[in-house]
Amino acid sequence: MPDALASQVAAGEVVERPASVVKELVENSLDAGAKEIRVESQRGGVALMKVSDDGCGMNREDAVLSLERHATSKLRDKEGLSAIATLGFRGEALPSVASVSRFRLTTCEHGAVAGTEITVEGGKLRDVVEAGCSPGTTVEVRDLFWNIPARRKFLRSETTESAHIDHQVRLHALASPETRMIYRREGRVAFDVAGTDDRRVRIGDLFGRQNLGKLVEVARLEHPGMAVSGYLLPPEDARKSRRGQYLFLNGRPVEDQVVWRALAEAHRGSLPAGRHPVAWLWLEMDPLLIDVNVHPAKREVRFHRPAELRTLILEAVNRGLQPGASEVDGMGDSESQAVRPAEMPAGVGLVADTLAETDEAKSPGPSPPPEARTWRAEVQEEFVREERPTSSPTFRVIGVLEGRYILLEEGDGLVLLEGEAARERILYEGILRGAREGAAEAQGLLVPLLLELEARDADVVLRNADNFREAGMEVESFGGVTVQVGSVPALLKGADPRQLLLDLVDELVQSAESRSGRVQTFEKFASELAKVGARGERCRPESAKALLDQLFACDLPYSTPAGRPVLVQFSSSDLRRKFGR
Ligand code: ADP
Ligand code: MG
Repeated sequence: MPDALASQVAAGEVVERPASVVKELVENSLDAGAKEIRVESQRGGVALMKVSDDGCGMNREDAVLSLERHATSKLRDKEGLSAIATLGFRGEALPSVASVSRFRLTTCEHGAVAGTEITVEGGKLRDVVEAGCSPGTTVEVRDLFWNIPARRKFLRSETTESAHIDHQVRLHALASPETRMIYRREGRVAFDVAGTDDRRVRIGDLFGRQNLGKLVEVARLEHPGMAVSGYLLPPEDARKSRRGQYLFLNGRPVEDQVVWRALAEAHRGSLPAGRHPVAWLWLEMDPLLIDVNVHPAKREVRFHRPAELRTLILEAVNRGLQPGASEVDGMGDSESQAVRPAEMPAGVGLVADTLAETDEAKSPGPSPPPEARTWRAEVQEEFVREERPTSSPTFRVIGVLEGRYILLEEGDGLVLLEGEAARERILYEGILRGAREGAAEAQGLLVPLLLELEARDADVVLRNADNFREAGMEVESFGGVTVQVGSVPALLKGADPRQLLLDLVDELVQSAESRSGRVQTFEKFASELAKVGARGERCRPESAKALLDQLFACDLPYSTPAGRPVLVQFSSSDLRRKFGR
């Protein structure tokens, strides 16, 4: 496969949307030891994304090399992938991004006389020249997807893409408080947060200072190979979804169900059902205990010792939730200092806030953090839901072909939608949304279904029991190789549960994770469940409109979770050409 093509394929995995480019670039800057990172985006990142850092920079040779596939510098002197502690390790991001944009890299090592500037267009190297520049690296990405119109066309509105970039930069700003982070959006400074070694300052800068007085500390707690620390908001500030929960693993934002479940468990009794605590947790873990290579965009990881991690989180959070808790812990670093409730806005503190009182009682405390920018957490929490693409493509349904495809007329030619692929995307996002909001809707079975499986298959199902539960499907062992299914996800209530489970088992057994004895990440699991659930989707003219509406309410409507296209376009010019015009 020619290299440019391979990069574009990889780009399909790595570059989901503009925000994923920002994520990769910022992670590279952090890996390079930057103390200051400037991020700039224009028109939702589609016109421009620019990330500049004052990190170590590269010499000419390394700069050229960095654009070759799998040219990571982060594998040198390491025993292997699992020992990688830095944020990136696949050596795929830069070439992928460069293959789907107009790309410029300017970089200079500290103390070097001159720097290097490299331009690439759609994966083709255009120019390598000497350039004067300050030490560090700047990457500019223009016209994302200019050479892949199908991808470009199905990006969401600029406002939506911009909100995702915003979220991404904030995540990294939280993950690495010691780095100054400046973010400009459409030419205006959205935020500029100074580097600090006090995480509360960063939380206050990004979430509003009014929260600082209420922060409950989760004092650092260690267990061999792992440690956790962070902050919570008290139970009365809990939210209806998990969107107020932030987890950082070795300096990188991640999603993880083990941690969120332990957090929920620690709050059992103090929170009504359906409420989720707001939390910022920083996890440090021996890289040997993590499998980072399970998700192309590295959003999810797999822990080798989930039970120990769960206990650690449970214990640390429980200690934090007990009145006077911050004093209990013996780690005694500056992290364990109490928060002064001085910033508590009138009205909020009136709820019997024993935690804040305890804090006050023992708070000679650090001085309040400096002036913070006002920004409301709610804005971020809701953005994904509010967004409706302003430029949602307008289609006219022409008809149905073979029961598989919906034919659509659109501004420029003909579009074919594959029903199964569309359903797969809709189910996938529905399953993830259910899990994220902590309430996957389940449809209980009147008579639990008993399935006798092969021993190996039963094992795979039971190892994935948490994933099943998260998706709204209760499965448990019924002795020996018999598995009992108590409910199915409401999203799939039309399906035959027996067939669904058997098909899913087939998929699970075939996956690389099962073969190596690992448990799948929830995202991967959800994508397989969606695939199985979508099987046999029949397209009908009368339901075409509803399917389209559901599809375009999705975040990423143009492809299945596995990257297959949902829509294929024959533009007017394609058609004219075929007819020799
Ligand atoms: P990875 O991060 O997985 O190694 P990337 O494609 O993201 O792969 O980057 C390739 C290489 O380019 C990195 O290993 C690093 O050596 C170099 N590099 C990328 N960005 C920067 C940067 N901002 N500063 C210094 N070096 C960088
Ligand atoms: Mg990288």
